[in-house]
Amino acid sequence: MRVLVIGAGFAGACAALLLRESLGAEVLLVERGAAPGGMLRTLHTREGVPYEYGPRVVSVFRGTPDILPFLRRFLALEERVVYQGTRLRPDFPVIPFPVDLESVRRLPCGATIERELAAIREQGAPPGERDLRDYLETSVGPTLTGLAFEGFNRKFWGRPLQAMPAVWGKLRRLERIASTGSYRLPSEAAHYYPPGGFNPLFERMLDGFELRCGVTVTRIEADAGGATVETDAGALRADLVVSTAPIDAMLGFRHGPLEWRGYRVEVDLADPAREAPLGTAPDGVPFAWLYTPWAETPVCRTTDFGVIHHGPRMADRPGPTVVLREIVDDRVSMYPVWWEDERFLRYLDDAARVPNVIPLGRLGLYKYTTMDSTYAMALRLAGSLGDYLRGSHARRVEILRAIRGDWGN
Ligand SMILES: Cc1cc2nc3c(=O)[nH]c(=O)nc-3n(C[C@H](O)[C@H](O)[C@H](O)COP(=O)(O)OP(=O)(O)OC[C@H]3O[C@@H](n4cnc5c(N)ncnc54)[C@H](O)[C@@H]3O)c2cc1C
Repeated sequence: MRVLVIGAGFAGACAALLLRESLGAEVLLVERGAAPGGMLRTLHTREGVPYEYGPRVVSVFRGTPDILPFLRRFLALEERVVYQGTRLRPDFPVIPFPVDLESVRRLPCGATIERELAAIREQGAPPGERDLRDYLETSVGPTLTGLAFEGFNRKFWGRPLQAMPAVWGKLRRLERIASTGSYRLPSEAAHYYPPGGFNPLFERMLDGFELRCGVTVTRIEADAGGATVETDAGALRADLVVSTAPIDAMLGFRHGPLEWRGYRVEVDLADPAREAPLGTAPDGVPFAWLYTPWAETPVCRTTDFGVIHHGPRMADRPGPTVVLREIVDDRVSMYPVWWEDERFLRYLDDAARVPNVIPLGRLGLYKYTTMDSTYAMALRLAGSLGDYLRGSHARRVEILRAIRGDWGN
């Protein structure tokens, strides 16, 4: 079977590898960019200092822990302590996120927050479900809701909290903001970084594959025997196409473009002789990244790559390291939005009518993914491909929904 994979990001690379391993497929990948990797790239400043554009660390949030042995086939992974900080207002001190009670007490409104948290604990009622504001206010109190979520929601999602569903908070377990003691990025598993960066991953995963970079797919024409893929470098023919390109573009934007939220990035260099650029948690470990949730700044998060690349000791930094700011910019397609569900499902329904073409990945299935959930999607695709190709339209929609998973995984 000859398979053509559109896009050589992590989803495309996983699909190529799994389909070759499970079906013995002959796979060609076409990639619009100059190199494979997509969002998952280690870049360098003009001075040659490395930083990551997308994933900073490998974490196992909700996807599958199998990602770790899978990645270790190609990369050495070192564990990293990832602490997150937040500066809830420009004039407030930096504290850990999720917040701990000891740090909350250092805030100007600390006593009020403490009282509200104590009242919620005393009541012992489950969080409200009316909307996101209700969920948050009954989980962490109105003061912390205003400081940590109100402004961020407005500047990033462009919606007030009461216009968002409670499930948005539940999925992210936002009530854990009130938990005490752990400064780590909330996740059941540890976090890992491959020393030297992520780029060798693609050289190794795609070793032996035919990969054509700098080629953009413009259209797919499917038929009973396979599909013809039109590109800016001519037409290509395959028995099966896996498309990790945006589903709306591949279907000619027939239902209109899907909305996204995103960031552009700005980088600076930090001097290793100075103290941790984003501050430290009460136990002295530097923050790997810092949130600035108030509405008046367009910066949402700042990352100190020194911690991620070299660990928590400033003395271990060999020279300048990168500090990266993420600035709200909706022209960058990073995060899908829940209010596009209906339009997306129309696209999914149409995609299931196209024979021999299957969408995958964050763009193909319009889903916020991490590396572990991307790998999990590719595993589900490889496991259900036979069924998909033989199935009725209704069955194919069902399989695509299962491959995508829900917002929680
Ligand atoms: C800011 C940020 C931080 C993140 N941090 C983490 C993290 O810490 N840990 C983690 O696990 N995950 C993280 N992620 C998620 C991770 O980046 C994604 O899960 C993963 O990279 C998605 O891979 P993908 O192949 O689906 O998409 P992409 O990486 O977007 O790949 C799609 C590829 O398709 C190509 N393409 C698109 N259209 C066409 C076309 N028409 N023709 C040819 N090629 C095309 C693109 O050029 C691209 O290379 C982060 C993401 C972002 C944005």
